[in-house]
Amino acid sequence: MTFYDFIKIGLQKNNRCPIIPSERIFVPRTYVGKRRWNLYFYDAVIFKFHALERTASLTDKSPSRDLSSRVALRGGGAPADMVYQALEEVSPDPTGIRNKVVLVKPNAGFLAERIGTGLVTDSETVRGAIRFFRDAGAAKVLVGDGAIAGVDASEALKAAGIEAAARQEGGLPVNLDKGEPVHVAVKDPMAVDGVRLSSIALEADLLVSVPVMKSHMNTVASLGIKNLKGCLLRREKQRFHHLAEEERFQRWHRWKTLERAIADLYSVLRPGIVVVDGVVAMEGMGPSMGDPKPLGLVLASRNVLAAEMAALYIMGIHWREVPHVFLAAQKAGVDLPEEISALDVDLNALKAFRSPFARAVPENIAAMFPCFKIMEGDACSACCATVMAFLKQKGRRYEDRKEGSLRIVLGKNIDPDLVDDATILLGNCTAGLRGRGRFLPGCPPVGSDIEREIGRMDEEGIGAPGTQKIIRRRGGSL
Ligand code: SF4
Repeated sequence: MTFYDFIKIGLQKNNRCPIIPSERIFVPRTYVGKRRWNLYFYDAVIFKFHALERTASLTDKSPSRDLSSRVALRGGGAPADMVYQALEEVSPDPTGIRNKVVLVKPNAGFLAERIGTGLVTDSETVRGAIRFFRDAGAAKVLVGDGAIAGVDASEALKAAGIEAAARQEGGLPVNLDKGEPVHVAVKDPMAVDGVRLSSIALEADLLVSVPVMKSHMNTVASLGIKNLKGCLLRREKQRFHHLAEEERFQRWHRWKTLERAIADLYSVLRPGIVVVDGVVAMEGMGPSMGDPKPLGLVLASRNVLAAEMAALYIMGIHWREVPHVFLAAQKAGVDLPEEISALDVDLNALKAFRSPFARAVPENIAAMFPCFKIMEGDACSACCATVMAFLKQKGRRYEDRKEGSLRIVLGKNIDPDLVDDATILLGNCTAGLRGRGRFLPGCPPVGSDIEREIGRMDEEGIGAPGTQKIIRRRGGSL
């Protein structure tokens, strides 16, 4: 066996660098076999550093240093046409796109039972973006996302109609959760020292974030920056919801770890273009249980922060209310202006489209279902979605029960003193308390298990009216 045989086998088996064994090396499968063996090792190492360098260069040379980039706004037309025109307006010279690999990254991590509800990016919006980049001469247009826990991203893309749109337009659907992990260090972190990104996201020369406008129960709003979370590899997405507070980040403690981690993510992964889908947005209890808000508009910009400001204005939300946006701006060295007039945008059109969104107010849900007392301690979107879906579908069945008599906790950050044997512990994150309450496993758990468990408690005479103690809140509360 030659030295290069050894290296090749070593790399294929565990992707470990033979020189620095602690380092994992990402070797794209299509890369293997296209090079002579004696170049293979060097290519692999160079690719690794190239990937890291690429994220760094996005940080250093991003156009997001100021807010002077044009924000194009279109409304009232066919979504694909509006997106195409908006992208033409913000990218009049497509030479920078020619022969490049582009990743169109919609918000498509949820399994949509019905389309046109604002749950995921509209497939026609995605179609317009793919068509534009294909026409501009991109070598390859990847189209994909990673999914929330319990959902297969390929299935989600299919259900949303995005996979079909991608194939019809000559794009390549990709499941970001199928990539290899690439660890990227965060400079001057607010919450995380590094992030594990999907190697597929790093294959692209140009990242295009295509979020759907949403109110969000954890982050107030979800737009182009929040959408980047789908580029985190598999369980790294959940990790962002379970970060422990650390003394060394004390300076940032007044903002949630999730918001700060998103700002850290944006510091290493900055889209070159953002297209915001407001064809059918989602207001209220986003990201999964809100109500559709048909606006019939799209906006695009080469500057993510400018696009966030414009979209937030339409949603009736000031950027000061959305910590991950102003923290991301702070890390990028950008002073967000108080006035929307500082943006290069058609102000009359922007004002005409303004339609304030109902906010995601967990207390409203609690008020709708007073018999439930639900305590959430940094649970991720998947568990929250399970509870919200259960309440929406089955909550009314229990409305004759006493206020607070049905107690459910979810997430990792739960005060054990608040749990008793009549409390439902929902999801694997609550496993540490399983001796104290009624543990329902799953990641995410399924809503029908909650119904079954309440039935069991009724049979056992547990949780009957009058037996509950008031649960104090820690962390968020639904
Ligand atoms: S158990 Fe729930 S909160 Fe915990 S990681 Fe799984 S889905 Fe998220």
